[in-house]
Amino acid sequence: MVIGGGISGIQAALDIANSGYEVVLVERLPSIGGHMAQLSETFPTLDCSQCILTPRTVEVGHHEKIKLVTYSEVEEVRSQGDDLRVKVRRKPAYVDWERCTGCGLCQEKCPWRVTSDFERGIGERKVIYTLSPQAVPNKPVIDREHCVYFQKGGKCGACAKFCPVEAIDFQQKEEIWEEQVGAIVVATGYDLYPMERLSEYDGGHHPDVIDSLQFERLLSASGPTAGEIRRPSDGAVPKEVVFVQCAGSRDPERGVAYCSQICCMYTAKQALLYKHKVHEGQAYVFYIDIRAGGKGYEEFVQRAMEEERVLYLRGKVSKIFPQNSKVMVWGADTLSGKRVEIAADLVILATAILPSQGAWDLKEKLGIKIDESGFYEEAHPQVRPIESGVPGIYLAGAGQGPKDIPEAVAQGSAAAAKVLALFASEV
Ligand SMILES: Cc1cc2nc3c(=O)[nH]c(=O)nc-3n(C[C@H](O)[C@H](O)[C@H](O)COP(=O)(O)OP(=O)(O)OC[C@H]3O[C@@H](n4cnc5c(N)ncnc54)[C@H](O)[C@@H]3O)c2cc1C
Ligand code: SF4
Ligand code: SF4
Repeated sequence: MVIGGGISGIQAALDIANSGYEVVLVERLPSIGGHMAQLSETFPTLDCSQCILTPRTVEVGHHEKIKLVTYSEVEEVRSQGDDLRVKVRRKPAYVDWERCTGCGLCQEKCPWRVTSDFERGIGERKVIYTLSPQAVPNKPVIDREHCVYFQKGGKCGACAKFCPVEAIDFQQKEEIWEEQVGAIVVATGYDLYPMERLSEYDGGHHPDVIDSLQFERLLSASGPTAGEIRRPSDGAVPKEVVFVQCAGSRDPERGVAYCSQICCMYTAKQALLYKHKVHEGQAYVFYIDIRAGGKGYEEFVQRAMEEERVLYLRGKVSKIFPQNSKVMVWGADTLSGKRVEIAADLVILATAILPSQGAWDLKEKLGIKIDESGFYEEAHPQVRPIESGVPGIYLAGAGQGPKDIPEAVAQGSAAAAKVLALFASEV
C-alpha cells in the first residue's frame, strides 16, 4: 500500500507495480498528483508541471496492478504475521463512479459556484467538481456542505437531471473495508505554514499578500486568471512585485526553526516567470542567503538575477501593511546598510513547508515516529533514510522533510526498492 498520491507516492506505486506486484494507492483527495498538479512550470528546466505529471497519473489510472482508491483515508492498521491489515474509509462522492463516464455535463449544469481549495481561495469551482481538467480519476464529487440538494431538502438536483447515465447518487454512504498488504510506503507530503500566523506580514488579511502556491495558480494556464498575472484585489496587472523568502522558516520564535529547502529555488522561478509575463514589471526578492545546491540550481538563480534583472535584497522584511491601493513593504538591505521601503502591488510570501495535516494521526495508526519538526522520522538520518523503524513501513517524499520534485521522485523509487527487496527476501 502506498499512502499519498503525490509525485513521490506515484513513483513508488509505479515502480512496485511495474515489478509485478499489486499496489493499493490511497489518496485523501478526489484525484492524484499532489501539489505538483498545482504548479506552473518547474525549476530548473521550466518544464510545464502538468505536462510531466500527467503521463504518470494516467499510467497509474490505467495500470492493471494498481488499485487506485481516492477520496479515502487509512482508518486503522493491524499486523498479522508478516502482513499488515489496513482498514480504509472512503467518503461518499454522491456519484457512482462505475457508471460515470467523466463527461463533465453535471459540472457544466450545476448552477452554484464556491471558493476552490485547489485554487487556494483565489478561484472558484462548481459544487460538483473535479480538482482539475486533467484529474485522474476524472470523476466528480459533490461538496455536500454547499450542495443545494443537501442543504435545502432535496431542491435543485440539476446534476442528476442532466447526467446521461444516472450516476448521481444522493443516497451514497461512506464505505469501510480492509486490505491485506505486505508493506506500506507513507508519502503524504507537505502543507504550507498558514499566512494568518505571520501577523507582521499582514498575511491572510490583505488580498494582495498571497502565498507561493497561490502565485503558482496565477502563473498556471489552467488557473483562475488563465496564466495572466493579475492581483486578487482588483484584477490589475502588478508592476511592482515583492517576494519574501523564509517567511516563517529559520525563525523559531515566529515560525519554524528549519530551512524549508525549496523556497530559494521556487522564488527565483516565480520571479523569472513573472518577468516573462510582465516585461515592464519590477520583481524584488528579500532573502537571508541563497541556498541553491542542486544540479543547475545556482545557474538558474543567476539567470533570474542577471538576465531577468530581478533585484535581490539581502535582508529581512520587518513589516508589511496596506496603504491606499498599495502594499507597503519595510525591510533592510544589509549589504548596503540601508532601510528599504517598497510600495508594492503584490507581495508573495514563501511560507514555510510543514508536514501535511494528518501526519500526526497517521503516525499513531502506523506506530511510526515523528521528529521535533513534525516530519516522519527515519530509522537513521544518514544510513537508513527510507526506513521508518517499523518493519515493512517505508517513507517517501516531503512528509519526511521538505524536498523538491527530483528528490521526492528519487525517494519514491528508493522506497519501492526497499519494498521489492523485502518481498524478494520472503520468497
Ligand atoms: C510554491 C511551490 C513551488 C514549487 N515549485 C517546484 C519546482 O518548480 N520544482 C520542484 O522540483 N519542486 C517544486 N516544489 C516542490 C514540490 O511541490 C514537491 O517537491 C512535491 O510536491 C513533493 O511531492 P510529494 O509527493 O512528496 O508530496 P505532495 O505533493 O504534498 O503529495 C502528497 C499527497 O498525499 C496526500 N495525502 C496527504 N495526507 C494523506 C493521508 N493521510 N492519506 C492519504 N493521502 C494523503 C495529499 O493529498 C497529496 O496528494 C514547489 C513547492 C512549492 C510550495
Ligand atoms: S444538486 Fe444542484 S447544487 Fe448540488 S451538485 Fe447537483 S447541481 Fe450542484
Ligand atoms: S454528468 Fe454524469 S456521467 Fe457525466 S461526469 Fe457528471 S456524473 Fe459523470
